[in-house]
Amino acid sequence: MAEGSNFDFLFKVVLIGDSGVGKSFTRNEFNLDSKSTIGVEFATRTLAIDDKTIKAQIWDTAGQERYRAITSAYYRGAVGALLVYDIAKHSTYANVTRWLKELRDHADANIIIMLVGNKSDLKHLRAVPTEEAKAFAAENDLSFIETSALDASNVESAFQTILADIYRIVSSKSLEQSSEPIKPSTGDTITVSSSVDPRTKQSGGCC
Ligand code: GDP
Ligand code: MG
Repeated sequence: MAEGSNFDFLFKVVLIGDSGVGKSFTRNEFNLDSKSTIGVEFATRTLAIDDKTIKAQIWDTAGQERYRAITSAYYRGAVGALLVYDIAKHSTYANVTRWLKELRDHADANIIIMLVGNKSDLKHLRAVPTEEAKAFAAENDLSFIETSALDASNVESAFQTILADIYRIVSSKSLEQSSEPIKPSTGDTITVSSSVDPRTKQSGGCC
């Protein structure tokens, strides 16, 4: 599908996880609209779900996670997060709880999170059993997938799944609010950044 400005929904999804787990690699399949000068990079892709055109904006950290210096602006407006670890490096899995806390502190409470065990091609080096990560994800209300950015296995599926999950939730919410239709501000596009709650907006404060 051609890139363009005609879309029904725009979803911001952030990539998080320890340095070296393959976040930037995972993003390779997207069109890069790099904005590395401001310390983030993002890529976009347009896909169809039902009869709607969804534009996904995938944000990458440009390496800031190395210094634990991800700013709250990175998380602002994100409706989804891919929390990536390396199946061959246990410490990156152990740090998942820290990343979840980071999301709790900085992201919208309703953000949809997918736990992604990357580098599944490194079978001989596996340090995190699939079943353990799957159970952890279930306990924490995360979806779960293992991927290999190297051989492109499941990367596509990870993005498709999280975007479909987001779409399902957003569209059911707009059904609930159907007495007050969403009015696009400009043109014919609707941008959904996150659930807008004026209370959290006011108390959101800053860093
Ligand atoms: P980031 O710091 O999380 O953005 O990680 P990068 O995307 O920079 O990847 C770190 C290293 O892991 C690079 O050398 C990649 O080539 C390698 N890498 C990324 N994904 C995979 C994968 O699925 N399998 C293997 N074997 N290596 C990978
Ligand atoms: Mg990176």
